Amino acid sequence: TDYRPDPDRYDRMRYRRCGRSGLQLPAISLGLWHNFGHDTPHQTKRDICRTAFDLGITHFDLANNYGPPPGSAEEAFGDILRTDFAGHRDELVISSKAGWDMWPGPYGEFGSRKYLIASCDQSLKRLGLDYVDIFYSHRFDPDTPLEETMGALDHIVRSGRALYVGISSYNSARTREAAAILRDLGTPCLIHQPSYNMLNRWIERDGLLDRLEDAGMGSIVFTPLAQGMLTGKYLRDIPADSRAAQGKSLAPDWLTDDMTQRLNGLNDLAAGRGQSLAQLAVAWTLRDPRVTSALIGASRASQVADCVGALDRLDFTADELARIDELSAG
Ligand code: NDP
Repeated sequence: TDYRPDPDRYDRMRYRRCGRSGLQLPAISLGLWHNFGHDTPHQTKRDICRTAFDLGITHFDLANNYGPPPGSAEEAFGDILRTDFAGHRDELVISSKAGWDMWPGPYGEFGSRKYLIASCDQSLKRLGLDYVDIFYSHRFDPDTPLEETMGALDHIVRSGRALYVGISSYNSARTREAAAILRDLGTPCLIHQPSYNMLNRWIERDGLLDRLEDAGMGSIVFTPLAQGMLTGKYLRDIPADSRAAQGKSLAPDWLTDDMTQRLNGLNDLAAGRGQSLAQLAVAWTLRDPRVTSALIGASRASQVADCVGALDRLDFTADELARIDELSAG
């Protein structure tokens, strides 16, 4: 490979401590849910990852099922680790997860010890790693005792498969229980990964950040751009090269006339601050220090650079926050 990471990469990024742990995460992290499957050229994936690392993004987030097909994002990132990032493993925080449907039969989804440990081993194989830095329970399983799921996470750490563990999309009551079980087992829960953006505020209604603070956990919020809605791309129509046009997880009928109007209002507010709408959206999720990192996705390298530009203006006035509340309320 001809890639040499930018020697100034640690000067630009800000790093935030993850709860009461020793681990710091970049304020902006990169997720590989979309655009890292077989539907995307390998060179695009390499460009996105190299640009991210050059900008100080040290954290890359994966899951067993990212693709398509499921597993292919971990394979692609494993390739990039061997080519572009060879020699930099100790500068990287790599996460994976198990919880959603991954393989047929009763042992291929949810929260059993059987599934989590087998899936973690499969992820390590696809990534070509001995361990991941963070391993998550990807969703709460109502039919498996929480002791079993948390016990599996504890085992994954004790057996050397992961350094830290986390939970994703658990509500605050489940989070409190999970954190207590893990604390008793001696493997503190590092982090929670919830969805959060100006248009999706369930964690505020649920009091999640207060529970995380109590438990000493950090957080990394996914879809901070509402899958691209909170960027400049849908202000007029739905561009052909956008996620909404491609029959993926962003349904075009979410982009109603009312929504488009509100997005334009937010875009004007962003422009007044000298920011793109994407930068405003990222900065807004980081306004509470209990949010450790904003977990963005990108379909091209230039989007990563645009989002990292959010760090130039993280402060908000009370008036701006009130106006954002008005514009984003549905
Ligand atoms: P975002 O809300 O950040 O949306 C990313 C998309 O927005 C990009 O793919 C791109 O879409 C568009 N975009 C990004 N930056 C810009 C920009 N600067 N200008 C214009 N458009 C931009 O997050 P994702 O939905 O991608 O999710 C991020 C990560 O969160 C995932 O990769 C995954 O790691 C994690 N996640 C976790 C879940 C969980 O259950 N724990 C669930 C979902 C996500 P386009 O293709 O239109 O260009």
